[in-house]
Amino acid sequence: MQKGLGAVVPNLFDLAAGPISGKPVMAYYYVTYKCNARCVFCNIPDGPMDILPASQYSSTETVIEHLRILKHLGVRLIDFTGGEPLLRKDMGHLLRTAKDMGFRTQMTTNCTLYPRKARELQGLFDILNFSLCSPEAEPHNTIRRDNSYDSVMESLEIARELGEPYQVIFVLTNDNSHFLPAMIEMAREKHFVLKVQPEWEYFGNDGVAMDNIKIARKLAKEKNVYVNMAEAEIFSTGNLKEKPRCKAANAALAISPDGYLLYPCYHKVAQRIKFDWNTVKFFETPKWKEMQKKVGTFSFCDGCRNLCYLHPSFYYRADRYFVLSALADIRYLRERRRIESERRQYLAATA
Ligand code: SF4
Ligand code: SF4
Repeated sequence: MQKGLGAVVPNLFDLAAGPISGKPVMAYYYVTYKCNARCVFCNIPDGPMDILPASQYSSTETVIEHLRILKHLGVRLIDFTGGEPLLRKDMGHLLRTAKDMGFRTQMTTNCTLYPRKARELQGLFDILNFSLCSPEAEPHNTIRRDNSYDSVMESLEIARELGEPYQVIFVLTNDNSHFLPAMIEMAREKHFVLKVQPEWEYFGNDGVAMDNIKIARKLAKEKNVYVNMAEAEIFSTGNLKEKPRCKAANAALAISPDGYLLYPCYHKVAQRIKFDWNTVKFFETPKWKEMQKKVGTFSFCDGCRNLCYLHPSFYYRADRYFVLSALADIRYLRERRRIESERRQYLAATA
């Protein structure tokens, strides 16, 4: 789901654990490349990845075996992504298994299927992201080229009623920054954190202009808002290959629906490595250590603004990005706690 414009807010403790232990902190597990939306800023469905037939996707048992391997590797957080993850009929089973194994779980959905699956999925998330592009039905439906706005509204109500840890991902583009005040108002009314996710160029799209990032930065301290100032700051240059800041394949692993480790990242696959128990041995070799060191230095890495990988990478070096990101993430966790308490009060008052 929207890993072109990924939706990542791992727990701060998870983020710190990777650099300390030298282990990957999280995995983006692409359970499918199929999607029932066609967002203008995404080419996952119908893109080069989608030539893979669903018949070649990993079975439920294989995904569970991959989770065992990820556990062995020290991964703490699984971000189940796609495509639209809920198109997979075994998603509830996979989430439950991941929870039973002690992972923290995150999933992003376009909400088209969430209302009918919500009860089956109750209690299986640590972070549940809903994607919303505008406070009204338009331009959300036009941007996503579906009719999901009503489903998002319904999902917000259901998730609040079920006590789920939901939040909204707002992909900030050059066309929707003026919606931010109304989105914040909605966040307060419907009790969620509004995660402002700048659109970066990748699928031939241009990415959001710095002027609009500035607008988001000004709102970073508003209640219910999460703008990561390190993300906003690195947007001016992106990762620099001469002075790399990206630690993909160190901090975060990406697994494809057919069971390959995507190196260095989902967005620029230089190598596909079959993900099985041999991977554990491979990770001990000097070759893999060398490959990890190369991340961020490839020519395609120069100027990359892929926040899915940059955010967990900020914790791998004590510099300005580290400090800005840590401050933003601490504030985010406080906001979540505050909002959860508001939700409980709301539910008690309306029971
Ligand atoms: S919901 Fe939109 S952003 Fe997410 S995978 Fe589908 S088309 Fe891409
Ligand atoms: S900097 Fe390179 S490795 Fe990191 S996300 Fe961008 S393309 Fe991938």
